[in-house]
Amino acid sequence: MRGLNAPPRSIVAPASLTARAVVSVCSRLSTADVVKEAGATMFRGGAYKPRTSPYEFSGLGQEGLRLLAEAKERTGLPVVTECMDVRDLPAVAEVADVIQIGARNMQNYTLLSEVGRTGIPTLLKRGLSSRLEELLMAAEYILKEGNERVLLCERGIRTFETAYRFTLDLTAIPVLKELSHLPVIVDPSHAAGRRDLVEPLSLAAAAAGADGIIVEVHPQPEEAICDGPQQIRGSDFAEYAAKVEQAAALAGKSLGAAV
Ligand code: PEP
Ligand code: MN
Repeated sequence: MRGLNAPPRSIVAPASLTARAVVSVCSRLSTADVVKEAGATMFRGGAYKPRTSPYEFSGLGQEGLRLLAEAKERTGLPVVTECMDVRDLPAVAEVADVIQIGARNMQNYTLLSEVGRTGIPTLLKRGLSSRLEELLMAAEYILKEGNERVLLCERGIRTFETAYRFTLDLTAIPVLKELSHLPVIVDPSHAAGRRDLVEPLSLAAAAAGADGIIVEVHPQPEEAICDGPQQIRGSDFAEYAAKVEQAAALAGKSLGAAV
């Protein structure tokens, strides 16, 4: 798959940020077409979804993986998807170009090692209350298996503030880049939990030097099975991506030609 055998930096953002987004949706395949046209470089969809309540929709499982394979086939976009459990790893590894390890599993050391052994590029999300050192040590579990293609993801942390879901830790971007050679990806969608905050946080992250943005997009967020309030509209994505490109330029990153 294009670009995935290159060093980690180029998995999501060839050469530099280019602000072309990694995009996620819950299940709608049509989103893949929308975002591809606007220049997204990867497509993220969760077949296995960690949910705070066990009574909420937790993904389509095997069927979700099949839909992702279809999205990949149709668009040619590499696929990012989460693996929550080592028992699902063989099936996930068949489809995933990048395996996501969710915030709640950041310190699931067995999972980290097993994912490391697959050699598949891995997006490691920072735990809800994890220090950067803990994130970097979690990354080491994957790296030590010989898998060097790890992307670190800042997705907001718990603070005393309750006005929004999580506090996006922008300071983590330059600090992680100072401490590590690994690319730093920012997820403004899960951090904010609100559509109106996604753009300002994305601009700030890009200007602060993020190597990529992972953003939730849906053709009709009102109809999304989960996370609708934080999803930007498919019809707004191209304009959003263009603005993020401009912010990335402030950080001296080259702009993506595709947006
Ligand atoms: C997700 O990315 O789908 C997700 C649930 O995010 P996090 O693990 O950061 O909460
Ligand atoms: Mn989500």
